[in-house]
Amino acid sequence: MAVLHNRISNKELKERLFQETEPRVTLSFYRYFPIPDPQLFRDQLYRSLNELKVFGRIYVAQEGINAQINVPESRFEWLKHYLDSVKGLKDLRLNVAVDDDGKSFWVLRIKTRDKIVADGINDPEFDMQKKGSYVNAEEFNRLTDDPSTIVVDMRNHYEFEVGHFENAIEIPSETFREQLPMAADMLKDQKDKTIIMYCTGGIRCEKASAYLLHKGFNHVHHLEGGIINYANTAKSNNLPNKFRGKNFVFDERLGERVTDEIISQCHQCGKPCDTHVNCANEACHLLFIQCKECAEKYQGCCSVECMETVALPEEQQRELRKGKDLGRNIFSKSRRRKPASGSSGPV
Ligand SMILES: [Zn+2]
Ligand SMILES: [Zn+2]
Repeated sequence: MAVLHNRISNKELKERLFQETEPRVTLSFYRYFPIPDPQLFRDQLYRSLNELKVFGRIYVAQEGINAQINVPESRFEWLKHYLDSVKGLKDLRLNVAVDDDGKSFWVLRIKTRDKIVADGINDPEFDMQKKGSYVNAEEFNRLTDDPSTIVVDMRNHYEFEVGHFENAIEIPSETFREQLPMAADMLKDQKDKTIIMYCTGGIRCEKASAYLLHKGFNHVHHLEGGIINYANTAKSNNLPNKFRGKNFVFDERLGERVTDEIISQCHQCGKPCDTHVNCANEACHLLFIQCKECAEKYQGCCSVECMETVALPEEQQRELRKGKDLGRNIFSKSRRRKPASGSSGPV
């Protein structure tokens, strides 16, 4: 039987990638469409992408596919051809990363999952095929010129905090699965209004639009290709740009400036700032906003407590970290409102 996953060590794979001389193109795509047998789909996809020397991380579920991959430049056209030939994937929107060295993945991993975006929805009546209609940048601008249009941000609070569309509503919850029912509840008296949902690349708001329709809303749209595509289109077509601030992205840049405006504040001193950092104390690693001055003053830490910790010998720090669940630590508004005992929020 053919081996449909890789059997070479991670280290060797990484070395191989760095020995490659041909540049790679990094891209992402997703699509919601019914896949009756995700495992079968996954295996066929693996065979073909492996032949094209594609690396990356792909999730396949009954509701669709979500992929972040790279491919040798010379095979990019083949890849497009191939994807176009797969039933259900015709005319995919491929988001090609601009300033990327193509070295983000060195192995191909395709996994089957329950959902491509965890949503906590158990209702068998919920149908991802009944989703809101797409709006492009131009339609978004036209619809939002009407003050009665409601714009809903379906990202996390730390993303909203540094940048969002004019007049957008924030759904203040920690996770997407909590956000869905919360959004439906917050908007429950607006079922006949025009609603536009958006997120970073489109995958979350597309699901959110289907959810609102499912909950009886009548005019739900979602922004095609998310903020990334909107910002690019607005720029290349000279359209007014209604996004304010920075578009948060989860890579080493932690954000892409869309406009010069800074709409958030340093979590430590309160002056205008939209630079996200992770606390220098490894045991904390809190994601928060810190200005240059505070970064110096607190040596990249979120609190005096963390500053004291990093000053300790590494051995002792390791002792302190033992048994602690670090998870993903993010500066949260609820934490800011009432400092929970034991949690070390920014000072
Ligand atoms: Zn500051
Ligand atoms: Zn810290």
